[in-house]
Amino acid sequence: MIPDSEFAYELLVCRYAELAWRPDGEPRPAIVSRQLGTKRRRWDTVVIEVDPDAFATRRAFGDGPLDSDLLHVVRHAPAEWAWYRDALPDPGYPWRYVRESIHRAAARDLVETRKRRNRIELRRIRPYPDWIDRIVAIENKPDLDRSAANALVDQLEHDVETALADEVWLATESTGDRVEPALLRSMPVEAGILTTSFGAGGSERADDRREDTVGVDADVTADAAAVDWLPSDLTPADPNARDPETITQRLEIAERAYGKGWRSYHDTMRPDCRHFELRRAGRALVPHCVAKDRCPTARECAGSCPSFTPEPPAWRTNGWPIEGGPGKGIRALLDRRRERVRDRIEPADGDED
Ligand code: SF4
Repeated sequence: MIPDSEFAYELLVCRYAELAWRPDGEPRPAIVSRQLGTKRRRWDTVVIEVDPDAFATRRAFGDGPLDSDLLHVVRHAPAEWAWYRDALPDPGYPWRYVRESIHRAAARDLVETRKRRNRIELRRIRPYPDWIDRIVAIENKPDLDRSAANALVDQLEHDVETALADEVWLATESTGDRVEPALLRSMPVEAGILTTSFGAGGSERADDRREDTVGVDADVTADAAAVDWLPSDLTPADPNARDPETITQRLEIAERAYGKGWRSYHDTMRPDCRHFELRRAGRALVPHCVAKDRCPTARECAGSCPSFTPEPPAWRTNGWPIEGGPGKGIRALLDRRRERVRDRIEPADGDED
């Protein structure tokens, strides 16, 4: 399968996770994002299982993500007024950068500040909640051949070793074979295997699949995947015993997932191109390029694309039902979907993408 299909597949896995998490048990409230991780390791799909009450408190901090500098301020802001250097742990870098972060936090109403005897004091508006239950990483390999499987082994072993995530899965499209090939390869036993059936019919062999099988012909529903191998729980016996760096990294990943969701591809792709459409794939919407007649990759769908054609100006003015033209309408639609997931948290019956 070619990379553009991998991108489409990734979107479908994200939508499936949004509809059906967890695949091996009771539904859990979760937010889904993609392409997140650390400098060393980036995961395709990330599911953050959340504590609903704490999540509601997190929402009171606004829709934008909190970066590491803001987290430093918000997590340690005291209940009563205090000089910032007394209140916050030594950041390990110059305090002037912390002052800047405090001002940014105050501008977003995350903390209160005042000046006393020429010193900046701060206090919290509300405590930053412990809203993350578990972090689940999913590696997507729709077309798992031997070389892809071998490449994955190191990555998954790294995930298992670092335990940055509580659980790691491999998602792969069904081949229809009785025993899925992923099971036959040397995957770390701690990684779960999720076999999806998004492709048209969902049962043809990988070798026979056309490159665009996963695309508008695909069909995402809440039961479009089966668990072929259960993952191990990588959570340490005492989750609070994680080292501070890991705790911070987990928080940063969860915050980015919260701010970004998985539909933010519209930020880098070109929905304002006249060839860009969203097409339905079961209960998912995926980008479709009319000029290429397939789902474009996030990389090729850019201003540098030779077929890029801006929306005619007339589309953006009179006669188009969405102010600003279809490109702006698509962005607004995808943003609304992200909001709706946050509002609802738990996928409900009748939830349409
Ligand atoms: S023509 Fe290029 S820029 Fe336009 S939608 Fe297709 S891939 Fe994207």
